[in-house]
Amino acid sequence: MKNRITGHTILTALLGSPVAHSISPMMHNEAFQLLDLDYAYMAFDVTPEQLGTVVDSFKIMNCRGFNCTMPHKNYICDYLDHFSEAAQLTGAVNTVVNDNGILTGHNTDGVGYMQSVKAAGFDVIGKNMTLLGTGGAATAICAQAALDGVKELYVFNRRGNSFEKAQPFIDQLNQKTNCKVSLYDLADTTTLKNCLKNSSLLTNATSVGMAPNTEASIITDPNLFHEELVVSDIIYNPETTLLMKLAQEAGCKTFNGLYMLLYQGAEAFKLWTGKEMPIEPIKQKYFDR
Ligand code: NAP
Repeated sequence: MKNRITGHTILTALLGSPVAHSISPMMHNEAFQLLDLDYAYMAFDVTPEQLGTVVDSFKIMNCRGFNCTMPHKNYICDYLDHFSEAAQLTGAVNTVVNDNGILTGHNTDGVGYMQSVKAAGFDVIGKNMTLLGTGGAATAICAQAALDGVKELYVFNRRGNSFEKAQPFIDQLNQKTNCKVSLYDLADTTTLKNCLKNSSLLTNATSVGMAPNTEASIITDPNLFHEELVVSDIIYNPETTLLMKLAQEAGCKTFNGLYMLLYQGAEAFKLWTGKEMPIEPIKQKYFDR
């Protein structure tokens, strides 16, 4: 596309704080160019206090949709008209679609993660999975894994505020899906060991191990791993977390959160444009190093 921005160009965006480091503008703008779509994606650093005003402006400007990142994934719900099933279950939204002023909230983090499992060459449908974390990303993954047909989901978190909040959410999943979901205290290492023995996939969806605290790992005892267990971390900075290193040493296959980032974006792209993101060239340019 020669004249990249025209009088017809449709706006899409990212709202968060901070946002300058985000790879999303590169990924979406590259995809728009590759498909010759007259859209543009911009990142805006916005505080929770400014969020309502920005959303109103986006409606006036007929912005097609936007992503929300920290700290807005929950706050944005106050400004939306409809919710997807995953967004409703989690109470968190990372993608908004604007249909002539009617805003629908979606959560594509879970879909992104489940796609990343497939992209890494694994299949967890009908199998058991252990999930570490009950924060925003963890609940999105938990809901999508249950909706997609994981057989049993063992969720672990340290006791505290988000642990307490997770129980009603997990009760809902047990009512609404065929997946058996249980919540355990992370300090209960005997149960963790038993759950890992029964699991095909372990997912770290806590922020433990993320840069700059790369010397931290949510599991440090290598005896908890077994060779048939695939270990994934949704952190992508560093690319190999300490958890992944320990799992590799124990003979486990591992993968990180980069493809989750790619596929959550691809899902948002489809919601806004109705087109599949051209995954391969984007993957090669920004994700496979
Ligand atoms: P969040 O909502 O703040 O949740 C953080 C989770 O980590 C909570 O379960 C929290 O437990 C747990 N945690 C934090 N510090 C801990 C510690 N010292 N010991 C044990 N548990 C601890 O954050 P989030 O948005 O879910 O993000 C979590 C991670 O996922 C971040 O590293 C983020 O970069 C990454 N992420 C990746 C993608 C991707 O596309 N790959 C997408 C979203 C997020 P408490 O609630 O008890 O504190």
